[in-house]
Amino acid sequence: MNLKKYLHNVPLYVPGVKKEGALKMASNENPLGPSPAALNALRALLPSLHMYPDGANKELKEALAHRYSIVPEQLILGNGSDELLQFTALACLSPGENTVAFKQTFSIYETATKLMGGTIRQQPFNNGNFSLDAMLQHIDASTRIAFVCNPNNPTGTYLNEAAIKRFMDAVPAHVLVVIDEAYAEYATADDFPDTIKMTARYPNMLVLRTFSKLYGLAGLRLGYGIASPDIIQGLERVRMPFNTNAAIQAAAVAALNDTTFIAQSLQVNETGKAYLYPALKKIGMQTIPTQTNFIYFDAGRNAQEIFVKLMDLGVTIRPLTSFGFPQSLRVTVGTPEQNEFFMTLLEKVV
Ligand SMILES: *Cc1c(COP(=O)(O)O)cnc(C)c1O
Repeated sequence: MNLKKYLHNVPLYVPGVKKEGALKMASNENPLGPSPAALNALRALLPSLHMYPDGANKELKEALAHRYSIVPEQLILGNGSDELLQFTALACLSPGENTVAFKQTFSIYETATKLMGGTIRQQPFNNGNFSLDAMLQHIDASTRIAFVCNPNNPTGTYLNEAAIKRFMDAVPAHVLVVIDEAYAEYATADDFPDTIKMTARYPNMLVLRTFSKLYGLAGLRLGYGIASPDIIQGLERVRMPFNTNAAIQAAAVAALNDTTFIAQSLQVNETGKAYLYPALKKIGMQTIPTQTNFIYFDAGRNAQEIFVKLMDLGVTIRPLTSFGFPQSLRVTVGTPEQNEFFMTLLEKVV
């Protein structure tokens, strides 16, 4: 096989570790499991699995459009938001061109960029947050995409409405701004941006959301993008006709309306945060306030070692060495029992 030269630069994804018999708090999955309404919809679907899914995703797009007071023409669906990130690179980026992103962030932006033979310019975390003003300085005539993770994985930090607006007003029109909001449903800050509304005003803005976190459907794979109809039409050209399967189409419509499950999930997250912050602080961990369903903490020593010891004791979390934080870890907020179990083990380790 003659691999394209630039593909040798594409990093392979490092997933959260799942270990037989150990509790997994490593991938920000919903600790309550999948939405029960989604499970019912899945059971009802089984007898029609011989049929192709609806390639146009009509029902799901209408449900999402209704939820966000937009039109279906402003939506594109992907096999996870990972696939939508890949679409942006496929549609916009050519070899020799570049993208911009934060340095300590979700790795798929780099993967998607390098897949197309592009280069990525990364703005490092500084003084407890990321600066979009600084990111702007990396943009030139060959920049095609700005990837903004908000709230950011793995720090849990966020950029507010004013910061996003200032960036959008300053960024040149030839740059597609992708706001990855995988955790936005968990955000509690009053000034967390309403980017879906902003897509009506900015024709170069794409907002990404997912069913993998709050809705508990990571295993079925569904992400969605919201933008101007022009951007959506462009991205539709790189989408294969049946990229989202019939199972997730049925499950997602049900999950979207499962208000009881959504409220419970948010409640469990708030309870978990209220318990974990003081508990982590008490044993000397330095934390950053989160707008997500995970907590970043700096242990002040080798994160990989802590990770391995915790795994041996029975819980996996995420060491952030591959993100560029060799002394920090990220733990998914669990149920009260899971959080207490995790803290008991962490206390033993440190
Ligand atoms: C989990 C996550 C996603 C979601 O990916 P899916 O492909 O939809 O499962 C996207 N972006 C970030 C930053 C994430 O942490």
